[in-house]
Amino acid sequence: MTDNLSCILYGKNDIRLEQRPIPKAGPNQLLIRVKTVGICGSDVHYCLHGAIGNFIVKEPMVLGHESAGIVEAVGENVRGFSVGDRVAMEPGIPCRGCQHCKIGSYNLCPDMRFFATPPVDGSLARYVTHDADFCFKLPENVSLEEGALCEPLSVAIHACRRAHIQIGQNVLITGAGPIGLLCLLTAKAMGVSSVVVTDLDDGRLALAKKAGADHIVNVRGKSQDDLRREVTSAFGGLMPDAAMECTGAQPCVETAITLTKSGGIVVLIGLGASRIEIPIIEASTREVDIRGIFRYANCYPTALQMIASGKLNLLRDLTTADYQLEDAVKAFERAQKADVIKVFIHC
Ligand code: NAD
Ligand code: ZN
Repeated sequence: MTDNLSCILYGKNDIRLEQRPIPKAGPNQLLIRVKTVGICGSDVHYCLHGAIGNFIVKEPMVLGHESAGIVEAVGENVRGFSVGDRVAMEPGIPCRGCQHCKIGSYNLCPDMRFFATPPVDGSLARYVTHDADFCFKLPENVSLEEGALCEPLSVAIHACRRAHIQIGQNVLITGAGPIGLLCLLTAKAMGVSSVVVTDLDDGRLALAKKAGADHIVNVRGKSQDDLRREVTSAFGGLMPDAAMECTGAQPCVETAITLTKSGGIVVLIGLGASRIEIPIIEASTREVDIRGIFRYANCYPTALQMIASGKLNLLRDLTTADYQLEDAVKAFERAQKADVIKVFIHC
C-alpha cells in the first residue's frame, strides 16, 4: 500500500497528478480511502486564478473538498468507527474553543482549517486523514456520490434554515448552478409550494426545470420591472416570501431585494464582487432582511437523513458526470462547462 496519487494545484492552470506519502491517522483521526470527490466552483476558481480573495495558493495544494470514502485505519481514542465503514467527510475542522465554536456556529470560527483552502490540502487523493468527529457514517442506502454531495447540500440546508423556509411558501432562487439547484431541492423537501429559478443560461434553466422548478426565467435583456412582472405572475400575483441569491451578480442581488415581499428574507449565498450597489432603502423601508451565508454548521446529519429517507433524490434530480482520478484534468475542464451540475472524480 504505497499508491497515494493526489491531484495537486501548483498555481494558475497547473494541475499535476503526483504521488504523496500515505498519511497516518493521528489520535482522534481516521485514515480514509477516498472514493468519490465532487468538483466545486471554488476548486475550479483556484485552478483558473490561483487564488480566491485573500486565499492565495503559494505552495502546491491538493484540491477537493466534497468527499466520501471508506475507513482504512482508525487512530487512537476514536470511538464508533471501524475499518470498512463508508463515511462522508465534512471538510472544515474548526478550533472547537472560540466563542463561535462553543455555541455551535463553528462555520464562523476564525481558525477553521478547510480542505483545499490554502494552505490546507484537500481530499482529491487516494488517501486522506480526517478528524473522526467530522466524519459521518453513510446509511446503507446512501451512495458514496450522495455522501460527497452532502457538502454542497449542507450549504443549501444552512441557507434554507437562515431563510426561515417554511411549508407553503413561495421562493425565488437566482442562479441555477449546483448551489441554486440544491437550494431548490431542499426548499421543496421542506414543503414550499412554488419555486421560481432565474439564470442567464437556457441550458442551466432546463436543468432547473428537470430538478423540479415550478417556473424558470431567463433574465437576459429583461429590466427589473420585467422580472417583477414575470416572477410575481408565476406566484399568482404574490411576491416571494424568501429569495435565495446564488449568483453573486449585482443585478440578481437587486432582483432578490426588490422582489421579496415586505417582511421577507433574502439570503446572500453567491459570492461575487466585494462591493456592489444595492437598493438599501427599499430593504429598510419594507423590512426585507438581508442575511449572509458562510458554508454551514450542523448540517451533515440532516443532509444524510434527508437523502436516506428518500425526501431528496439528488442523483435523480441533478445531472452528473464521472471521471477517474487519472483523468482529473479532463474532469476540471468538464466542470467549467454548464452542461452538467456536478462532476465526480473517482479515486
Ligand atoms: P455556478 O457558477 O455554477 O452557478 C451560478 C449560476 O448563476 C450560473 O448558472 C450562472 O449562469 C448564473 N448567473 C451568473 N450571473 C448571472 C446573472 N447576472 N443573472 C442570472 N444568472 C446568473 O456556481 P455555484 O457552484 O452554483 O455557486 C453559486 C454561488 O454560491 C457562487 O458565487 C459561489 O461562490 C457561492 N457559494 C457560496 C457559499 C457560501 O458559503 N456563501 C458556498 C458555496 C458556494
Ligand atoms: Zn473556533
